[in-house]
Amino acid sequence: MTDAAAGERRVISLADGSQMPMLGLGVWQVRDGQGCVSAVRWALELGYRHIDTAQAYGNETSVGDGLRESGVPRDQVFITTKFYPARKDPVAEVERSLERLGLDHVDLYIIHWPKGGPTWAWPGMERARELGYARSIGVSNFDVAELAQLRATASIAPVVNQVQFSPYEYRRGLLDACREEGIALEAYSPLGTGRHLSSETVRRIAQPLGRTAAQVLLRWCVQRGVPLIPKSTHRDRIAENAQIFDFALSEEDMAELDALDRTGGTERALERTWW
Ligand code: NDP
Repeated sequence: MTDAAAGERRVISLADGSQMPMLGLGVWQVRDGQGCVSAVRWALELGYRHIDTAQAYGNETSVGDGLRESGVPRDQVFITTKFYPARKDPVAEVERSLERLGLDHVDLYIIHWPKGGPTWAWPGMERARELGYARSIGVSNFDVAELAQLRATASIAPVVNQVQFSPYEYRRGLLDACREEGIALEAYSPLGTGRHLSSETVRRIAQPLGRTAAQVLLRWCVQRGVPLIPKSTHRDRIAENAQIFDFALSEEDMAELDALDRTGGTERALERTWW
């Protein structure tokens, strides 16, 4: 697919037939409470249809409250949560998540990171799907070798691998391998947790377009065909981050952004693991 064609897409089809909106709101480091409820409600009011939370974030209750406060029907919103792999049982943990969220299923349930190896939790993830607790199942922070190990033992293949991904972390090897396996690579920290916003190159590209650095970084993901989940707790920024489907980066801009990569086009999900 060309950059231009990829840039038109608002949803991505997962290998199991589900549809995932390209743009979601991330809520890592957003404390449970009114701030989180408001961020989720604003995002949904502003047209987002995808929210990314996790058991480890401790804010699933607020995500559920924000969803209900927004008035947007449940079946129009794609909700992801993540299995906290310090725990033992993905089924028991998703039951708790659903209670906190006030929902009967999530759209996507992923293993947060491959703590203790890439395969042990997967039978529980498959069971969670069979029980209807999750429409789709996947992983996060898995590199190419870990995906291969998982595929060798899985009955149901993972459909998503959520990883750190931005022009500075352009994990081409991992992206290509995921595509070959029918796994959607999803970009977390697309703004580098805010660090990439001060990039001279990104700002120089943004200026003549009348766009912000954030919008350029996010649009790069869209044109690479990669779904993305930027985080903000400010209403104006949540709105700004959604205005990325009404302009295009040129091939030259894309190439200049690609060249910011500091991973060497790696197959790895992270340069340093935290587990
Ligand atoms: P992002 O790359 O989305 O950057 C968020 C930071 O940028 C915040 O400090 C935010 O501040 C700021 N920001 C956002 N939009 C703008 C804007 N338009 N202008 C200026 N500043 C802005 O960070 P995250 O690391 O949080 O990644 C996004 C999401 O990805 C997470 O929330 C989480 O859902 C997921 N994630 C998953 C991981 C995993 O292991 N699976 C790991 C890390 C993240 P403010 O909020 O104050 O506006």
